[in-house]
Amino acid sequence: MRTGTNHLFIPGPTTVPEDVRMAMNVAMQDQRGPEFGALTLGILADLRRVFRTTTGQVMLFPGSGTGAWEAAITNTLNPGDRVLMARHGQFSALWAEMATRLGLVVDVIDVAWGAGVPVSEFMRRLAADRKGEIKAVFVTHNETATGVTSDVAAVRRVLDDCFHDALLFVDGVSSVGSIDFRMDEWGVDLAVTGSQKGLMCPAGLGILCVSEKAMAAAEKSTMRRAYFEFRDMAATAATGYFPYTPPTQILHGLRRALDRINAEGLDNVISRHARLAEGVRRGVAAWGLMTCAEHPSLASNTVTAIRVPEGVDAREVIRIGYERYNASFGSGLARLAGKVFRIGHLGDLNEGMCLTALAVAEMALVEAGADIEFGSGVAAAQAWYAQGRMAQATLRMAAE
Ligand SMILES: *Cc1c(COP(=O)(O)O)cnc(C)c1O
Repeated sequence: MRTGTNHLFIPGPTTVPEDVRMAMNVAMQDQRGPEFGALTLGILADLRRVFRTTTGQVMLFPGSGTGAWEAAITNTLNPGDRVLMARHGQFSALWAEMATRLGLVVDVIDVAWGAGVPVSEFMRRLAADRKGEIKAVFVTHNETATGVTSDVAAVRRVLDDCFHDALLFVDGVSSVGSIDFRMDEWGVDLAVTGSQKGLMCPAGLGILCVSEKAMAAAEKSTMRRAYFEFRDMAATAATGYFPYTPPTQILHGLRRALDRINAEGLDNVISRHARLAEGVRRGVAAWGLMTCAEHPSLASNTVTAIRVPEGVDAREVIRIGYERYNASFGSGLARLAGKVFRIGHLGDLNEGMCLTALAVAEMALVEAGADIEFGSGVAAAQAWYAQGRMAQATLRMAAE
């Protein structure tokens, strides 16, 4: 018998807020009925604000982030097209693998799992590509396996400096709605996300934002696709409908989740993630442990991947957390298995939840054999969180 709350300290699916869950408890609905379109149109308009675009087109495909990866590729590229991407964690590795399976020629740059996208190497490859053979550059904005955020704006600058016409694809599954993301300003052509991470909903929607340039590329693309056809989706989405049955429950949940983001304000959502993440990182540093991210400037505000000390198995840390303390941590994926455990800190989250994550992690680490002082990580995070609150109070008093 498990009592109390099961703490979901994984980087997706994330905790679904109570009011979002309640909003999904609706009777089945006629998805071709006259009222249905307004629900979708409102969601699409609000998602454009989350992507920070005025010209991009948002598409909601039943599926998940992985489906949205596939939709982005098959709608805009052509068989045998050359694409450039870095592999620096399990998610970028899977995207590269998918691109290969779909018949693209993938120029992969392997860098350390813990490094960011190698911008200067991208620069070298793009500058050398005089004939414009590279048709797209893929960037994993936030590599969820390693807790690394890469600089998408820098990749855009490189493309512009080389006068290169390649499409810019960005995987924003664990960044959109929680880490600063700017579709228009960064000239992103295809941005991909899902419903179950920063957007605080159950899994079930693969979400895309498509630039005008990518929509034009879609007109000429000859790759095989059927279910994920942009043209079909765009035609029905114009009035808020779908070419096939949408997951209406999740749409009602997403409506409420977007209301929450609007009420808090997107900028505040992003700064909350930064503040909460910094507390987690200070906790990890107080334990004397390293993160997977190679440099503080790469550290993700939605997930921290923590290297366990020599002689400790990260799988044990995760098992103890789950079995004894009813808390889920993210595992080390692929080559990081056993070496890393991850704390997801995105979505509907506050200080107390982060402190619980650190407190449970301390117990699981010690029980798995790590030499860590109880309370050390928690205290470091408390000091950071309280300092932030007190500084805010002082500013408010000064303002009054
Ligand atoms: C979760 C995640 C995915 C996969 O998305 P699914 O919704 O599980 O298909 C892809 N990329 C990144 C960066 C992710 O975090």
